Amino acid sequence: MNWEIVMGLEVHVELSTKTKIFCSCTTEFGGAPNTHCCPVCTGMPGTLPVLNEKVLEYAVKAGIALNCDITRYNKFDRKNYFYPDLPKAYQISQLYLPFARDGHVDITTPSGVSKSIRIHEIHMEEDAGKLIHSPYGDATFPDYNRCGVPLIEIVSEPDFRSAEEVVAYLAKLKSSFEYLGISDVKMEEGSMRADVNLSVRPYGSSEFGTRTEMKNINSFKAIERAIAFESQRQIELLESGGTVVQETRRWDDNKGKSLAMRSKENAQDYRYFPEPDIPPISISEEMIKELTDAQPEFAHEKLERYVADFGMAKADAEIITSSKHLASLFEKTTELCGNPKETVYWILSQIMYFMNERGVLPENITLSPEKFARFIGIVLSDRINRQTGKTVFEAMFFADGDFDVEKYIVENNLEQVDDTDLIRETIKSVFAANPKTVEQYKAGQTKVTGFFVGQTMKALKGKAKPDTVNKVLTEELKNL
Ligand SMILES: [Zn+2]
Repeated sequence: MNWEIVMGLEVHVELSTKTKIFCSCTTEFGGAPNTHCCPVCTGMPGTLPVLNEKVLEYAVKAGIALNCDITRYNKFDRKNYFYPDLPKAYQISQLYLPFARDGHVDITTPSGVSKSIRIHEIHMEEDAGKLIHSPYGDATFPDYNRCGVPLIEIVSEPDFRSAEEVVAYLAKLKSSFEYLGISDVKMEEGSMRADVNLSVRPYGSSEFGTRTEMKNINSFKAIERAIAFESQRQIELLESGGTVVQETRRWDDNKGKSLAMRSKENAQDYRYFPEPDIPPISISEEMIKELTDAQPEFAHEKLERYVADFGMAKADAEIITSSKHLASLFEKTTELCGNPKETVYWILSQIMYFMNERGVLPENITLSPEKFARFIGIVLSDRINRQTGKTVFEAMFFADGDFDVEKYIVENNLEQVDDTDLIRETIKSVFAANPKTVEQYKAGQTKVTGFFVGQTMKALKGKAKPDTVNKVLTEELKNL
């Protein structure tokens, strides 16, 4: 039988506000355990939560970006459950009136499937703490620093049919939130985490099978592996006459399998009730308009503009717009130097190399557009050739603080040599030092020309102007 995989996603995204959702504790990642908390976020009796206005602003920005209807009048609810990382024994969330509903995200997968993923709702809530299990297996230590860090949870409809679609959707969310500047979306630090609800059904059937939920998977690779494993597990179970049990499963990426964790709760198990300590929130038309007008140009919009305005190849535009920081460096540098093509060349050849080979992250690039533009001006004025340019670029890219390109070139004696007489003399001495190769050329082996170019460049420490070397060499070869 042919099986179809049906999936829906719940994605938790930590918002990068400076302080927590209901108190003024810092949201900073890490820190010594239990140092970023107070009586409010640890749920001491008698304390009162107050909604951080910035959280609402960031959340509504996300709702608008994902094409949702913003709920003008929304409320918080208490979700009751006991867990050691949740000292209050309830989580403040939104069940009845989430702030955003009925949105959609358009995706295109690498194999060319374009579709719209429907968003059921997005709600605001607070994060729980973390449990650190002792490596000796005899104790667990709660760290409440993460309690009360603001989250939005994006709940999709069950519109996914492949792991590829899931990854394309997550990549689109990640990029949108990065461009919005509302989250640092680092999956490895848990600031974006996905729960996958998965069921299988005979291909062509319109009924849903029983689903399982895999929680908090934190990398694209792990998600692909988890989906492949869990769908296969369910198919094998059904084909051998078994039934799938509705449950929450934990994905163990090291073991490469999902393990039953607990039976899946339904909403009623949480005994939700309206949060009595926080008044309902009214979102004004002015606020929605203001935040709609302030939406940034997103990656897919930039991509189209780069292709149309700069004639950039689509694949190149995809790389540059894949990071807000790279796109910004490209745009500002181009504005200053007026040469998009040259800017793309150095980003793709050098910066991408540093990113791939040396693990440089786009957000950690310190090279300023001003320095980058000055460097391009120097290359275009022929003061250094491209080969030397690579050395200079590297020194500039990794320098800290006040690196002066001009000074570096002068001090290291890197200026391009375009002295025809000097180049001619050098070529003649290369001929004199390689009589055998000269004989080969005379015998018709023209491919040795490359060797002469290489030797001449080497003798001039790579600084000669390639055009001039080629021109003079052609003349001198005729004189042989
Ligand atoms: Zn606090």
